[in-house]
Amino acid sequence: MKANIFLFHRVSPQRDKLWDPLSPGRFDEVLNYLKKNFYIENAETILSGNFKTSNSKPFAAIVFDDGYKDYIEYALPILKKHNLPSSMYVVTSCVESGIPPWTYVLDNALANTKKNKIEVDSSLLPEELKNTSWKNETDKIAFAKKLKPFLKTVSNSVRKKIYEQVIKSLDDVQPPQNLMMNWKDINEIKSGGTVVGSHTVSHPLLAKIESEEEIEIELKLSAEKIKEQTSEFPSTISYPIGSYDERVKKLAKKTGYKFGLAVQQQVLDTTKHNVFEVPRIELYNEPMLKTKLRINGTLEKIKKVLR
Ligand SMILES: [Zn+2]
Repeated sequence: MKANIFLFHRVSPQRDKLWDPLSPGRFDEVLNYLKKNFYIENAETILSGNFKTSNSKPFAAIVFDDGYKDYIEYALPILKKHNLPSSMYVVTSCVESGIPPWTYVLDNALANTKKNKIEVDSSLLPEELKNTSWKNETDKIAFAKKLKPFLKTVSNSVRKKIYEQVIKSLDDVQPPQNLMMNWKDINEIKSGGTVVGSHTVSHPLLAKIESEEEIEIELKLSAEKIKEQTSEFPSTISYPIGSYDERVKKLAKKTGYKFGLAVQQQVLDTTKHNVFEVPRIELYNEPMLKTKLRINGTLEKIKKVLR
């Protein structure tokens, strides 16, 4: 069986220089297009193979990572209008603290700081990032756009070290306190039919964590917290930034999850993919034409040819 699992994060009219949410209008347009072209079910229903349909359209699911509150304000009303189900994967430390994941906090600090340099141990940085001061806004945004991809390539401990130094340097910016859902919100969306799953405790790149114990803590404590707060053990772990390896797959299964979701901009093919390496297709705030190319896989094909 094949299915397209579409991944979203924020849906909001708010604009962002570094990580732009999907506008509600575009989200509505995307859902209209998905409804016309796919038979939409919950990701968990599709993955468990627990359904009967005579529908001839291909399967698709709509899933959200991170647990932003704008899901309730903007995404849910539009999903309800189209009568479409969805799943939400939450980062439990963010639910507890109200502070967004480090990926957001980093972008937010760099986008909004008035400072013109950061104090970071430059031995941890590659050549193109060693100059940690900037002359103007353009310079700063260019630095930010290189820093985050670099942080996704290093070990989890190095990533944390650099991140902490950057955030300490940019102490003129505080992370927003009103962006994340709390447990009350999560229980409300769950009663409304949203499937709730885990997106770990602290949003690390799981495959970049050196010790298996630490990977297990991320998988286990987040699931236990969700069980404690919603009375249901989550069946899905969504790997932050799609990062997983053989250890992560093994430990996710051992923890008691049924499904592990990655991000590979590919269609799920159950004859090819294991349930702990389910690919998802991420959609962004892009022109509808580009979004359609992403949805039907043409964009990936073009990229492959160009590579
Ligand atoms: Zn995430």
